[in-house]
Amino acid sequence: MHTSILSLPTSADYHFIVIGNPIAHSKSPELHQSFAKQTGLNIHYARQLCPNDFDSFVAVAASFFNGGGTGLNITVPFKEMAFELCQTLSQTNQGNLSEYALVAGAVNTLAIKDGKLYGDNTDGRGLVADLRSKGVDLDSKNVVILGAGGATRGAILPLLNANVKSLHIANRTVEKAENLAKMFDDNRITFSNLTDLPNNVDVIINATSIGLSGEKLPFNDDLTTDFAYDMMYGKPSAFLDFFKAKNANISDGLGMLVNQGALSFELWTGEKVNLTDFTF
Ligand code: NAP
Repeated sequence: MHTSILSLPTSADYHFIVIGNPIAHSKSPELHQSFAKQTGLNIHYARQLCPNDFDSFVAVAASFFNGGGTGLNITVPFKEMAFELCQTLSQTNQGNLSEYALVAGAVNTLAIKDGKLYGDNTDGRGLVADLRSKGVDLDSKNVVILGAGGATRGAILPLLNANVKSLHIANRTVEKAENLAKMFDDNRITFSNLTDLPNNVDVIINATSIGLSGEKLPFNDDLTTDFAYDMMYGKPSAFLDFFKAKNANISDGLGMLVNQGALSFELWTGEKVNLTDFTF
């Protein structure tokens, strides 16, 4: 039984939850409270644990919106289920998906828009915005992204829209990288396994979950880049250490989290958050 919506304080003007499993680690409530403080809005934002099945996810999301909730963030493992829900509802004109959610096949933000359940995916745009804020101009750059899971799939369209010169997808299971390359059908995209990477890499992005296992990526020692970005944050990164030792500029993925959250917040409230010198 999910009771968090029953305890929503009536004093808040906007009600948000983040649904995940697990969910206790999520920083989204504190992040969005910081956005609310800056924009002067009165919000309530709660973590919502949910059993890992589609029916439970739909029940929680429906209770939340039927109870007057404004917006919902979705994290692992529900992003694809949220996509499926919006897609199913769109067949009866009750749901809609942004172009980013459509190509990502995953939704991280839900809202009610024009009376329909609207699914967006702000992760990839959050990545590009964070790179830009760190002085990384992607225009005409050769970019390598490691991994071919949900995070990579969501990042591809925003990276292509940022006018990269080339985008190389490298993955342990090369067929998954190949499938993504075929799905996007853009002649700037190439793919390989994790060892056969191009030589001229301007920006390399780690979108694998290898950091969680403590294993190291099987790079050749001569691999260099100007900028290395690890989507993971809050943990030591062997990936970033490898490139730091070669004097590359580096960043973890905390800013991606902040930027994707700011995009969700703007979708829900219409308020643009100023992220210059932002901390939470
Ligand atoms: P996912 O869909 O589960 O994909 C995981 C990817 O990692 C796959 O490509 C997988 O390769 C690869 N991988 C896993 N273990 C590996 C290993 N030992 N060696 C080499 N490759 C390995 O995960 P995801 O949702 O894309 O997330 C990927 C990472 O991005 C996670 O660390 C996640 O926390 C992070 N992320 C951060 C943000 C943010 O806001 N900062 C947002 C989204 C995701 P195979 O295909 O061969 O299995």
